[in-house]
Amino acid sequence: MKKILIITTGGTIACETTENGRAPSRSGAELTAGITDCEITICDLFSCDSTDITPSHWRKLYNKVRESADYDGIVILHGTDTLEYTAAMLYFTASHMGIPIILTGAMIPMSEEYSAGGRNIRDAVTAACDDRISGVYVVFSGRIISGGNVIKRYSTETDAFRAFCSRDNGSVQDGAVAYFCGAEKPPVMKLPERDRKISVIKLSPFTDSLNVPENYDGAVIESYGAGGIPSQLAESLSALCARMPVTVTTSCGGGADLHEYEVGQRALSLGAIDGGKMTTACAAVKMWLEA
Ligand code: ASP
Repeated sequence: MKKILIITTGGTIACETTENGRAPSRSGAELTAGITDCEITICDLFSCDSTDITPSHWRKLYNKVRESADYDGIVILHGTDTLEYTAAMLYFTASHMGIPIILTGAMIPMSEEYSAGGRNIRDAVTAACDDRISGVYVVFSGRIISGGNVIKRYSTETDAFRAFCSRDNGSVQDGAVAYFCGAEKPPVMKLPERDRKISVIKLSPFTDSLNVPENYDGAVIESYGAGGIPSQLAESLSALCARMPVTVTTSCGGGADLHEYEVGQRALSLGAIDGGKMTTACAAVKMWLEA
């Protein structure tokens, strides 16, 4: 029988409705009752809405994951709002562990009718037990998506996540992995010894300066389409690039290519880094990890 570690961190999947709104309170034992086809160990690591997650939570999770390589697989129950950041952190730091590390959650609490939480947990455990899978993946609504390529696309749909570039890596159907094509593994990165500060800026036609506090270590600018920086921000970008690394990403699936347009090439010539196929979350986490 496979040995699976389930780490809970809170999120909607574990929520109960209180008079102040949904708040996570259910334990891993409650959420996984009824799963009998593998040997489950529960670790209730913390319990928060993922909106509250900070790099200090990532350290706890990273340490727990890294000390758990003797399990056949790890399932992490997580809020969906910042799941793509946590998935990116583990993608860069734990993909090489040689076991499946699967993140999942739900859009409706398991305490409520119509929740897909039970299915998502079972699918995640199925993926974590599959010998073909190693590395970090999000399993949600039957999709298997690389932790380095996942984005929350919908705030109301049960099927909330999509692959940012290219296709899903696989699917779970009727309790089995229907197909799987593994993602490329990134070079191993370690957590930074001190918490680096990364600014994430979303461009709009109103953006007329790039203000990043002095004590920051890097910036990610989420641009549009193929990526580019408006001419009115050229001076501001040049000054920022002189102080810290600046990566330009895009809000659009498919990723950025700063070589395509003049507005992108200008950003490159001023010192910006092309975010390419990375989501904004991935680019920000990668920059945080780069010592
Ligand atoms: N606010 C919740 C969270 O991210 C949403 C969810 O889990 O779906 O923790």
